[in-house]
Amino acid sequence: MEAGQSFLPGLIAACSAVIALNADRLCLLDQEIGDGDHGTNMRRGCEAVFEEREMLAGLPLPQALERVGMTLVMSVGGASGPLYGTLLVELGRGLAGEEPGARQDFSSALSRAVDAVARRGRSGAGEKTLLDVLYPVQAEVRMQSTLDSIATEAQAAAERTVAMKAGRGRASFLGDRSIGHMDPGACSCALLTDAICRYLGE
Ligand code: ADP
Ligand code: MG
Ligand code: MG
Repeated sequence: MEAGQSFLPGLIAACSAVIALNADRLCLLDQEIGDGDHGTNMRRGCEAVFEEREMLAGLPLPQALERVGMTLVMSVGGASGPLYGTLLVELGRGLAGEEPGARQDFSSALSRAVDAVARRGRSGAGEKTLLDVLYPVQAEVRMQSTLDSIATEAQAAAERTVAMKAGRGRASFLGDRSIGHMDPGACSCALLTDAICRYLGE
């Protein structure tokens, strides 16, 4: 892996922009079934990563992703910080390969990172969380789908959380009353997936 890469600052800027643009909407969704701060939490995390974008560009991609994850854990606050943080830290570690010969391709690294998020949240598919977007996205990546298809599926997956009953997080306190609302974490995950796919497709 070459030291440093040039695409990351632009990718970070694209992710920060989509979260800033949709922060109010994410807070509104979180008001319905949580404590109303998901947009604020995500914006704070994205701003912290944005501040570091030039430094991150100087790191090899695996180390840069790991650092992004740690910055999210430290800055986001709220359940989503450690979850998105785990995703990025584990993705970076998977791409680096902790042991000689253990370096994984992107698809298997993503798969293991999503599994790490599930362990961190003690949750699985169908519990109305960001995992309900991450699993379908991972499946599309494994099938080598186009960037357009990945983004479309992410959005469809977020829509499917509307009908789900929350099994984890604050929304689970509402029981059946969580049904009928999109999960805020699933929404942010679909928005970020869309921003990333668009950026990589340019
Ligand atoms: P908080 O709930 O602490 O205020 P946020 O509002 O930032 O944190 O994030 C809420 C989102 O985090 C939820 O919409 C859900 O997608 C995700 N989430 C919360 N708890 C879990 C969990 N145990 N497993 C997976 N995802 C979770
Ligand atoms: Mg919240
Ligand atoms: Mg909160």
